[in-house]
Amino acid sequence: MAKQKSPKRRPLGRPTSKLVVVASRLRDLFGVPQRQRKLPDPLELLIATVLSQNTNDVNSHKAYVNLKSKYPHFLDLADSKASEIVRLIKVGGIANKKSRTIINVVREIRKRFPRFERKILKSEERNSLIDRLRELNGVGYKTASCLSLFALGDDDAFPVDTHVHRVLNRIGIVSEKTPDKTYLAIRDFIPPGMGYEIHINLIRFGRKVCTAQRPKCYDCVIFDLCRWKEKSLNPPGEITPVDESKVRFMHLEEV
Ligand code: SF4
Repeated sequence: MAKQKSPKRRPLGRPTSKLVVVASRLRDLFGVPQRQRKLPDPLELLIATVLSQNTNDVNSHKAYVNLKSKYPHFLDLADSKASEIVRLIKVGGIANKKSRTIINVVREIRKRFPRFERKILKSEERNSLIDRLRELNGVGYKTASCLSLFALGDDDAFPVDTHVHRVLNRIGIVSEKTPDKTYLAIRDFIPPGMGYEIHINLIRFGRKVCTAQRPKCYDCVIFDLCRWKEKSLNPPGEITPVDESKVRFMHLEEV
């Protein structure tokens, strides 16, 4: 029997042009996200990111406030005892692990970055700074690029979290297995100055429409752009097929 050929995958095309179209549709849906007037301090943002892992915003904030009230200058955490940190951040969960990470990160920052300040960090080339930050134990691509985007105000930085990863892969802008791989595949294709807007709006979209379970494809403004095989115009429980001709249609190749 002749061996069956596996179906050819269509080329993914130009990520920047597709992102521009997606960004424009999401802007119509959510508007342009506004930055906070005051950028967070880089070290404070790093510590807050560690504290936010595996917990909700309320408990993570409580842990942060406890820590800040005892250590107003986070660099002083380098000389602290893990047991003291555990006590302060317990409310946020996995306190043993987080306290070790926090102490290590601060100690390494003191060793490797003579001045961990926005002005100094901003003067470094983005990707090389992100690589240097990743050398800090406990800091990955997401945390490092969050620091660039949020604390340094770098509008070309583009952190990839689980929502951004899921949406970009479903649409077919990238085809990657993990958020880190998606980040590496897309980071050089972000339309200039649009990292903040696209990052925030993709997260909103991933939370509200393109959810991990039962995405609302029937209410999706980028349905025509999406390459996800399981996308469906039928709401859950609905079995009547929807007339696709009523949906705005544009081939990816035309973008
Ligand atoms: S069509 Fe469905 S899977 Fe595709 S982007 Fe929209 S909500 Fe997500």
